[in-house]
Amino acid sequence: MATPFAGKRALVTGAGKGIGRATVKALVECGAEVIALSRTEADLHSLKQEVPSVKTECVDVSDLPAVEAVVKGAGPIHLLVNNAGVTQLLSVLDTTPDAYDRIMSVNLKAPVFLSQYVARGMVERGDGGAIVNVSSVASSVALTDHLAYCTSKAGMDMATKVMALELGPHKIRVNAVNPTVVMTDMGKMAWSDPVKSSNAMTQIPLGRFAGIYTDPTLSVHLAFGRRLPGKEALVTALCVGRLC
Ligand code: NDP
Repeated sequence: MATPFAGKRALVTGAGKGIGRATVKALVECGAEVIALSRTEADLHSLKQEVPSVKTECVDVSDLPAVEAVVKGAGPIHLLVNNAGVTQLLSVLDTTPDAYDRIMSVNLKAPVFLSQYVARGMVERGDGGAIVNVSSVASSVALTDHLAYCTSKAGMDMATKVMALELGPHKIRVNAVNPTVVMTDMGKMAWSDPVKSSNAMTQIPLGRFAGIYTDPTLSVHLAFGRRLPGKEALVTALCVGRLC
């Protein structure tokens, strides 16, 4: 097995379940030392049992002082995956200020400041690095009952562009990946209704939602925005979704 990330330390948020958990495993298989951050201790415990080399941090990403403390205590971080995300299905008329703030805080504010904490270290060391923001097709496609979620992901795409612009000269690559529906817990919560899901699938050329792709090399290459021969178009389409 090739280990393209040997000697690299990666921090992955939302690592307890779904896309984040799969990304952690893929990074470990590709040689990275991984810090898995999530907010449910039981998920981190089971991840540690599955992948003993992983270092776990039980932190809510919206608790910025706690997140900053994790970064300060971690040693050099070369790769950051801002994956933690939440949604709540609420119409425009029903969205509450609290729900809006919670979604924006986890999906947008936390990745922005976590990137800042990590990038400061990368700039200081001068050896560059990579930041991947797990955005969504919802950043550019309006979805019913996803007002705050779509807004947060649109903001994440623009934050990614500004970060790429400012941090590129410091050899830091910043990319967003924008998956369509992936059948994780979040995907099931939002897309299990067959009427809703069959409508959405008509917009997907393959006619089905993504699963978690298990080829670690491919998923990590996608997660870090590297080019794969013949697969470039997929880089922004899917992070660790099934590819074929
Ligand atoms: P899941 O709900 O399956 O997993 C999300 C993980 O993030 C969980 O471990 C969750 O922990 C953790 N998490 C959530 N909030 C916080 C927080 N405040 N602090 C720390 N950890 C947190 O989601 P997915 O794997 O499906 O989604 C991952 C990312 O991919 C999200 O950013 C999502 O928006 C994006 N995405 C998902 C798509 C999909 O269809 N699934 C499509 C496009 C993008 P806990 O369970 O304890 O809350």
